Amino acid sequence: MSVSYLDQPPEVQARLARLKARDVILSVDGMSKRFNSGKNNVTAIEDLSFQTHRREFLCVIGPSGCGKSTLARILAGLDTASEGWVSLDGKPVQGPGRERGMVFQGYTLFPWLSVRRNVMFGLRMAGVGKVEAQRQADEWLALVGLEKFADAYPHQLSGGMKQRVAIIRALVNRPRVLLMDEPFSALDAQTRQRMQAYLLEIWKKVDITIIFITHDLDEAVFLADRILVLDAHPGRLREMIEVPLPRPRDAAQIASPAFAATKARLEALIHGKETADEDEPYPAVPLLTDVSDEVE
Ligand code: ADP
Repeated sequence: MSVSYLDQPPEVQARLARLKARDVILSVDGMSKRFNSGKNNVTAIEDLSFQTHRREFLCVIGPSGCGKSTLARILAGLDTASEGWVSLDGKPVQGPGRERGMVFQGYTLFPWLSVRRNVMFGLRMAGVGKVEAQRQADEWLALVGLEKFADAYPHQLSGGMKQRVAIIRALVNRPRVLLMDEPFSALDAQTRQRMQAYLLEIWKKVDITIIFITHDLDEAVFLADRILVLDAHPGRLREMIEVPLPRPRDAAQIASPAFAATKARLEALIHGKETADEDEPYPAVPLLTDVSDEVE
């Protein structure tokens, strides 16, 4: 019997079963979104349905134009669906709300406020007193190792630091769901990897469900429990993939056959490439150096 690297090892099966036994937090049912501009009617999303469970890490991936940003805006309550429903904890999503935190690509820190005041902002808007808001902001800053930068201004921080502040600023109001739209795409490769690992650390410590939009296949496989793959024109659900990698995730897993097989599956779905047949033996490599000059 052949074993595919996309098969779920027992520990992954058990973890996914535990995840699906948790309450459904966010539910999207038969949701469509059409944009009507004069003669041009664009169906950005068509008949999309999926659910996310409490403390799930769901990534959304798909080719350009498949409706990722439109989906993020609708989940955030910044736009409305043309058909269907979006509900959070069983209640319809109508407009932005404190139970959904956001870290969007263009959602930057307020440059005129110190780091501490940026973090305090959401708390103050929610009616928390100044002293208490400051205490909580300092606690969150300590959680991400930025307590020394509380009085600094955003322009004095590196890209990774700014995104750490953006994440805790979204978390201070204790949202149920954290929506992240390509949050690390402006970071250099090394900082991006560090931020991915760090986000998993934060996710483990906080009771939060994450919906993370990305076009980076490695990022999706490294982070997600499940990956929602969308088709373009119109944006439709192509497949929901369960990631066959155990947790905790670490950089070593990126080199594993299961990681490569999941990525190849995503590539095949998104770019229509053939999936690498991992059951085929790799060919023997001929000797290209002098005999007796081989390395171990
Ligand atoms: P993605 O983020 O996956 O690249 P988008 O959500 O930005 O996709 O867009 C999905 C489709 O909807 C595209 O065809 C895009 O041109 C169209 N679209 C998005 N926003 C609007 C808008 N405000 N008006 C008209 N068409 C739009």
